[in-house]
Amino acid sequence: EVILDAGFFVRWMAAAAGLVDREAERLTELDSAIGDADHGSNMQRGFAAVVRTVAAQPPATPGAVLVAAGRQLISTVGGASGPLYGTLLRRAGKSLGEAPQVTAAQLRAGLAAGVAAVEELGGATTGDKTMLDALVPGIEALETSFDAAATASEEGALATVPLLARKGRASYLGERSIGHQDPGATSSALLFAALAEVAR
Ligand code: ADP
Ligand code: MG
Ligand code: MG
Repeated sequence: EVILDAGFFVRWMAAAAGLVDREAERLTELDSAIGDADHGSNMQRGFAAVVRTVAAQPPATPGAVLVAAGRQLISTVGGASGPLYGTLLRRAGKSLGEAPQVTAAQLRAGLAAGVAAVEELGGATTGDKTMLDALVPGIEALETSFDAAATASEEGALATVPLLARKGRASYLGERSIGHQDPGATSSALLFAALAEVAR
């Protein structure tokens, strides 16, 4: 059983930054088809800043790691994804409170609260071809395991291909957004892949 303490959450953010680095070109390529070709660089810049921040001032609790990460994403990333991912992590962190360790169930509940805040901020819901299409199934499958969450979010990202974008820049394309995988759903799946990686 993995211990979900502050160190685990710092490792999660580092693993996320690593996967985002590795996949940055692909994220930007996806965003060039239905957006403005900056999702890879937005995520790279944001998560590099998150890693620097939590390394410079290591937070003492899981909640504090996520709040610091969320705040950093909001201030570093100009695009839609910065405030949205920032809100996800910040709200999740707040819901974890000041406990030195959390359970997987608490993490799942925290991320669910974060997703609710993302829905409120961005006005999107599942099926709108956004990050939510990977986040929601990923969080759902966290009930089973970290690996199941990684798989479910990846499947959620793949399932955005036939969808019509109803929010964000991709929605400006209308029907032409159909047939392309959503960049934000793809990066959300990376966050779950990173979580599964550090839990292993
Ligand atoms: P921008 O569109 O400002 O250039 P990014 O390219 O970094 O920002 O991020 C785009 C991604 O953000 C989309 O692929 C989508 O997943 C997500 N997104 C955009 N608008 C919304 C929204 N209203 N709700 C949820 N996710 C959104
Ligand atoms: Mg973009
Ligand atoms: Mg942009």
